[in-house]
Amino acid sequence: MEKYRSFDEIQFALKKGESDCRSIVKYYLQNIHTKAHLNAFVEVYAQSALEQAAQVDQKIAQGTAGKLAGMVIGIKDVLNYEGHSCTAGSNILKGYVSQYTATAVQRLLNEDAIIIGRLNCDEFGMGSSNEQSAYGKVHQEIDPTRVPGGSSGGSAVAVQANLCTVSLGSDTGGSVRQPAAFTGVIGMKPTYSRVSRWGLIAYASSFDTIGVFSTTVKDNAIILEVMAGYDKKDSTSSKKVVETYSNLDFPKGPVKIAVLKEVLHATALQPEIKRNTLEVIERLKNKGHEVQEVDFPLLKYVLPTYYILTTAEASANLARFDGVKYGYRTPQAQNLEQLYKDSRSEGFGEEVKRRIMLGTFVLSASYHDAYFTKAQKVRRVIKEITEELLTDFDYLMLPTTPTTAFKFGEHGDDPISMYLEDLFTVQASVSGVPALSIPNGKDDSGMPIGLQVIANSFKEADLYAFGHYLSALTLN
Ligand code: GLN
Repeated sequence: MEKYRSFDEIQFALKKGESDCRSIVKYYLQNIHTKAHLNAFVEVYAQSALEQAAQVDQKIAQGTAGKLAGMVIGIKDVLNYEGHSCTAGSNILKGYVSQYTATAVQRLLNEDAIIIGRLNCDEFGMGSSNEQSAYGKVHQEIDPTRVPGGSSGGSAVAVQANLCTVSLGSDTGGSVRQPAAFTGVIGMKPTYSRVSRWGLIAYASSFDTIGVFSTTVKDNAIILEVMAGYDKKDSTSSKKVVETYSNLDFPKGPVKIAVLKEVLHATALQPEIKRNTLEVIERLKNKGHEVQEVDFPLLKYVLPTYYILTTAEASANLARFDGVKYGYRTPQAQNLEQLYKDSRSEGFGEEVKRRIMLGTFVLSASYHDAYFTKAQKVRRVIKEITEELLTDFDYLMLPTTPTTAFKFGEHGDDPISMYLEDLFTVQASVSGVPALSIPNGKDDSGMPIGLQVIANSFKEADLYAFGHYLSALTLN
């Protein structure tokens, strides 16, 4: 029988004395073993997780356990955890062992969460299908011939297949929300700067966020409220007070929701996704909420803006992997230049190299103004218009993805068609605002559909409350 699907269930079992943390960890380890073919985990920390569990059990007995006692968490292979490997799904970091723990992970540990292993992902978070990992692809549990989404595909499947209670991912342009939608779980991207990025391997620093996968909105909120908040090690992290997200207080009265016309009527939108989204809109209206279609003519600029700026930032961030300081080093170089060139050529995968080249190009002296500077300006306009909409309305609502999970190899030699998968998730990333994806029924092949809700910056409490309310109105 399926057990421990939510933290509520775990806490109940612990309180009644029906289980302890060691047994819960053993349960998940057994699941990981049985479902090893999904390839969600890159490494399982069986021993350290069991040791941690024993310590938490002791604390529970003494009445000194933290808020997350009993929560078993998988972390994406981009988050440093001292003494454990961290490789960003890349050969260039094979063998690298973290010297320190990411602040987000440390805060969870401080509350007695148990870390069960690190999860597969697209190399450096670059991808939408988890096909770009040095560890091979991750399979959907529902249909193993289909992708789980990316880049946090392992994190999504770990929750989908009940391999841990919740998991952490990173979301730069949709990497938590899109795989959450594809696998039928809940995925949250917080406001940029809400969670410290200290210890997160950088992809695009002005976009990167650490997000959460879970089966319930409440579990998601509990994790985020522990991780969020100022950290002196990340000067971009916000000093704003962290609200108690897990209160889930939704206003009694009606709320105003905007639906973007260009998204809802996009030709690329799979008909079943449109159908289910319209159904929820109807249900919201029947409950007395105001749902209005609004124009967002900037939609066509969002994806190019995202890909110009993120590749530019990635080309700078990934310059540190040079074969000298740490990570992979080519064995046969005869001189320094060769060492740099060969280490990087051999260590990085195809997609990462493509993006470094693209990013280097848009930053080059002759093209800087035409691409990078222009994209910065367009980003500003997109952000302002999105924030304006979120002042006039309480929430924006749109499908998380244009299609449901596709088959492996479907976007094979066409990177642009793969980038188009991110069409609906990048607006929140370009604007820095928080966005939540919740399941909204299935398509005709039985693949999950995601519904995305966006709120204004630092409105995570409202977003979770609405998401919780909405999960009673969505399709099953
Ligand atoms: N699929 C997007 C990309 O490849 C988003 C990735 C992410 O959010 N890390 O850039």
